[in-house]
Amino acid sequence: MVNNDIMKVMETIIRKIDKNNIDKNVIQEAGNILKKGGLVAFPTETVYGLGANALDEKAAQKTYAAKGRPSDNPLIVHIADYEDLRRIAVKIPPETDALAVHFWPGPLTMIFWKSEAVPCGTTGGLDTVAVRMPADPVALEVIRSAGGFVSAPSANTSGRPSPTAAEHVVNDLDGKIDMVIDGGDVEIGVESTILDMTVSPPMILRPGAVTAEMFEEVIGPVEIDRTILKAESGIRPKAPGMKYRHYAPKARLLIVEGDIREEILAIRQIAYAAHRRKRKVGIIATQETLPFYNYGTVKNVGTRENEKTIARNLYRVLREFDKEDVQVIYSESFAMQGIGKAIMNRLEKAAGHQLIPASEIVKLQKYRRIIFVSGTDSARGPIAAELLRNQELEQEYVIDSRGMVALFPEPVNQKAEAVMRSVKLTLENHVSQQFEGEDLSEDTLVLTLEEAQKWKIKAENENIQNIYTLNEFAGDPTEIPNPYGKSLAAYGECRELLEKMIAAVAEKLNSLAGGEEQWEKYM
Ligand code: AMP
Ligand code: MG
Repeated sequence: MVNNDIMKVMETIIRKIDKNNIDKNVIQEAGNILKKGGLVAFPTETVYGLGANALDEKAAQKTYAAKGRPSDNPLIVHIADYEDLRRIAVKIPPETDALAVHFWPGPLTMIFWKSEAVPCGTTGGLDTVAVRMPADPVALEVIRSAGGFVSAPSANTSGRPSPTAAEHVVNDLDGKIDMVIDGGDVEIGVESTILDMTVSPPMILRPGAVTAEMFEEVIGPVEIDRTILKAESGIRPKAPGMKYRHYAPKARLLIVEGDIREEILAIRQIAYAAHRRKRKVGIIATQETLPFYNYGTVKNVGTRENEKTIARNLYRVLREFDKEDVQVIYSESFAMQGIGKAIMNRLEKAAGHQLIPASEIVKLQKYRRIIFVSGTDSARGPIAAELLRNQELEQEYVIDSRGMVALFPEPVNQKAEAVMRSVKLTLENHVSQQFEGEDLSEDTLVLTLEEAQKWKIKAENENIQNIYTLNEFAGDPTEIPNPYGKSLAAYGECRELLEKMIAAVAEKLNSLAGGEEQWEKYM
């Protein structure tokens, strides 16, 4: 058994701060702790950072211990004044000034050759140093009060999603660090862009809010480390930290990729299949796509109209799924423009690069919609539809019934309702509806109760592909007789016949959907 209190080695001070009215006492308290070699988590505009004195090797070691971070993964040194760069970096290339003018303070980390002043404990043994000047006013004040050089990796337990709120820091590091400054939610939500300035042209090692296009406007073309978006075996990412499965939730995370329509259909299907197997499912959806999902815990990660909102919410959503003990998470994928590249990079790492082409799932689905057509849509059709809804189906279908002559919306026949009640089902919410040709699309299966209905629909809809009589589809030679005007017993018999036929329909649909096993790999 793990007892958190045993691992709690110190009391962590938590202080709230207002960015617009910074309390100097809190800053001084943090500065003192840092100067003495302690650890202070503070907000930056990207994610919360775990600060330590960057020039003090022992402080850096404490950082690795608190985070559980592999010690070959170097820390980024944060500065507050541009002149300070020259104390920690040498052979600074001329383009640096222009980049600093445009992007500092801000979400850009640049890598330079390190000076003697920087201990190897901070750089993971490398002779280069990563430097950033954050934009958050609290961060800048903390850095100054600590003496100007603060190493600050993300303030999370290594491998977990980065913290975008002080609460996340406390969840991961309470009792392991000296202080947390709570400045509210961060602005950007994904870590800084890392640009390696020791090569020419400079190379992006980690995508972030400052994009390749933005660099290009200032210093011309830059290169991009090709391991950023696809894991290629044998090729090592140039930023040591990028080789780990990062930013990861506890649940298995799968990214579904395709056009958005296919992504929705595919996620609907695998969420349904997982739900049927009693798996606790989470879905990462957007404002625009939320209403399409019926199974699992669906979370809104932001709006597709503004991908910045998605960057801001991504880690919080992953952490929420952890709290809810979700077992498998399906995520839509996002456009690779602007900050979208950083979003997809983090998402892919969180997923351990498990991507599923949406088309792989969508192509397994011959039918997605089933319509039962009867005369008045008041007995046999609605009974058949409801019975099918209650079958164990491998695939999610929209199941409806319609009538050839259902000119007015009417409730179901009372005897039909009575015979359904006797098997604990009900049609009380059913209202009859006229069959319309526009109900038909490629993935719709139409099953008529009678032969004549099939021919009439065929004659009126020349292009219709998937139409059968119910008994024909079920592989049964006899039609189900119309019980209208007959006794309750006749209705009961009708329901029994339908039960048999619908079971056969379900079996056939399941075999068309490829059997049970194929869904296992998605959960
Ligand atoms: P974090 O502090 O959690 O944002 O992670 C810092 C990232 O910067 C990690 O991926 C590191 O591997 C990377 N990094 C830091 N210093 C260097 C460096 N000198 N060369 C290459 N990558 C670095
Ligand atoms: Mg990190």
